[in-house]
Amino acid sequence: MSASDFFSQSYAQARAKFLAAAEAAGLDPEPHWHPLLGRDGERLALDVLRHGPSKARRLLIISSACHGVEGFAGSGIQTGLLNDPSWLAEVAAQDVCVLYLHALNPHGFSWWRRVTQEGVDLNRNWHDFHQPLPHNAGYDEIAAALLPAQWPPNAASEAVLADYAARHGDKGQQQAITGGQYEHELGLFYGGRAPTWSQQTLRHVLQEQAAGAESIAWIDLHTGLGPSGHGERIFAGQDDGRSLTRARLWWGKEVTSLLDGSSSSAPLVGLMWSVVPELFPTAEYTGIALEFGTLPLPEMLNALRADHWLEAHPEAPETLAQAIKRQIRDAFYVDTADWKQQLLTQARQACGQALKGLTSDD
Ligand SMILES: [Zn+2]
Repeated sequence: MSASDFFSQSYAQARAKFLAAAEAAGLDPEPHWHPLLGRDGERLALDVLRHGPSKARRLLIISSACHGVEGFAGSGIQTGLLNDPSWLAEVAAQDVCVLYLHALNPHGFSWWRRVTQEGVDLNRNWHDFHQPLPHNAGYDEIAAALLPAQWPPNAASEAVLADYAARHGDKGQQQAITGGQYEHELGLFYGGRAPTWSQQTLRHVLQEQAAGAESIAWIDLHTGLGPSGHGERIFAGQDDGRSLTRARLWWGKEVTSLLDGSSSSAPLVGLMWSVVPELFPTAEYTGIALEFGTLPLPEMLNALRADHWLEAHPEAPETLAQAIKRQIRDAFYVDTADWKQQLLTQARQACGQALKGLTSDD
């Protein structure tokens, strides 16, 4: 089989390939059904697959589609791992359980959206919603220009954005747009005002699957930032020094951090990984987001703007709607054999390193 065989053109196809690979590996997936249907009328699920002993002290989580449409990449990687005899043998030789979470946000995956069915960015949705939420004044300032009344945007809207970038720098603008916001429900990088279905389901799955683990590692698969095909290892853990040191020991000193400006991502709020220390405060937790580049940042952001505009304008002409959907999928999934092979190679390496790190105290 070649790299491209593991990747798909729809959520339904991706899920079928993942389930077939699980079955071929002799493993039993457990679906957590989503209440809504997919774009092709198919059922949607967060599929949970364990490979390893039921009471393993060490757990490696490999998850896809936190950001729906990014699941085309993450699912291909998961299916590739399940088709890799050397990987399966490496796992089987250790006292470790690998927990594959296929499609954390299956609705966004199927409908080619980055957000959940609630319009929420799952990786900004982890808050105590009884407490005041972070306020993003920068987003407020450019919200109307980001999602103008008509698409494509007119010169006046683009001038507002250019002016903001001139005053705050490109990094400042990226921070305002992508950092997370809790006021504009139809807007980009909206973190929501309540736990989403995906949050509640993932929480339940982790309570069930990770209880008792003393050491938990997590590789959460993403796309959209950085040079095309390059997998940035972005630290996803507590700001306690020790966790970052351990992540760099396992995955190399190139592990970047949102905390010190070394990452291509802006600092973010409401992150998903925070559920692990919340649920399992005594477990040793080590995690990264493995983020594969697709298009230059301005093109990726324009694709997201267009998609959010389309969601707010269901009356848009069919040709424009189709072009926008094509644009958002292409912004998070480079449909070439080369790109897919790059992803498989780097993800395989990162997973091997995680396995080694988790078991290094033996
Ligand atoms: Zn992502």
